[in-house]
Amino acid sequence: MNDGPSTTCASCHGWTFAGQQPGYDHIHAVPSLPDDSRDTDTHHVIHGYAVGFSNTEGDGLPQTWIFFEDLEPAIVFGRAGRMSVRDISGYGVYTAAREVRFDPAESDDEITTLFVSGRPLDRRPGENEIFARWARGVQLKSAYYEPPQLGH
Ligand SMILES: [Zn+2]
Repeated sequence: MNDGPSTTCASCHGWTFAGQQPGYDHIHAVPSLPDDSRDTDTHHVIHGYAVGFSNTEGDGLPQTWIFFEDLEPAIVFGRAGRMSVRDISGYGVYTAAREVRFDPAESDDEITTLFVSGRPLDRRPGENEIFARWARGVQLKSAYYEPPQLGH
């Protein structure tokens, strides 16, 4: 259905940052991410990074997750969002995986799950190096981020 995480799944409940978000059938906090090395026609996993943000002050934005394949745009997105004057009061960047699978026992549609894991990666020492890598990897004529080659 993809109109928000399952209301019947225990793993979608009971953690602070679960939220409800269109586009994901499940959002799970997990100790380790699912394997991304065994793609099949009905099961596809991409590893990356998820930025979670919200506005906990008043009735602001609910907890929302944005998935990136690369760390650099995730770190920049989180930091820039937090610079919003009013709309975002907190954020975190985590290792994550985006899984799309087809399981006729659960749904007639594809099932999309975001897995979030580990300690926050944002606001660590050396983050300025990540900002610099992001700037070098921006492609001005496309939406793609191209990680700079090491040593350049
Ligand atoms: Zn779930």
